[in-house]
Amino acid sequence: MKTAIITDIHANREAFEACLAHAEGRVDGYAILGDLVGYGADPGWVVDRVAGLAADGAPVVRGNHDLGVVEGAEPRMNPDARQVVEWTRGRLDAAQLAFLAGLPLEIVAGDYHFVHASPRAPRAWEYVNGIREAERAMAAAKARITVCGHVHQPALYHVGPANRVVRFEPSLDTPIPLRGPRAWLVVPGSAGQPRDGDQAACYAVIDQALARVTFHRVPYDHETAAAKIRAAGLPESLARRLTEGG
Ligand code: ZN
Repeated sequence: MKTAIITDIHANREAFEACLAHAEGRVDGYAILGDLVGYGADPGWVVDRVAGLAADGAPVVRGNHDLGVVEGAEPRMNPDARQVVEWTRGRLDAAQLAFLAGLPLEIVAGDYHFVHASPRAPRAWEYVNGIREAERAMAAAKARITVCGHVHQPALYHVGPANRVVRFEPSLDTPIPLRGPRAWLVVPGSAGQPRDGDQAACYAVIDQALARVTFHRVPYDHETAAAKIRAAGLPESLARRLTEGG
């Protein structure tokens, strides 16, 4: 079974469609790791498409922006993000809001723990952006391989010899073995709002049978996605992030 892991779509239809098209024929299924909405101008389309994948059996977990749309933005969310969360709520119908409200915070399936932020208190939305955070995340994980989003840059961590956590720079388009028995943590990076200076959408393919991960970058029409953000009257900084990749 090969699964395309797509996370932090952030209502970016163009990026999501590009990832789905790239994954088509390479994978048997999908997993979506939260933040379906927020920042981008196509929340309804993205929620409907993800709901379709979920109906076909895809694991889907909830991100902090999804929660914000359903329950109100958290005070610590930055002002631009809060503005879009409020705007997004007005753009979704009852069924779309109910879908977001029903998403679980985490899903454990065999060797894999899928979560938006960190297995350590998933609702605390901790950023796994360093060795210490990765170590704590893997210690709390309920499976050998943790796969998470929230951090908008691809990353790969492993518990190596002497239980030291190592960070790898993930190479693209090459399967990387997630060898046992020790833990791994995979961050595919954001599909809809990459923040590492590269505009191309991020996603990863996990081959469950062989325990391998392949990181991909998919160029997409980020100018159109940015133009839609401007046309919707959403903050200019969010449009610029797509055209600059960060
Ligand atoms: Zn996000």
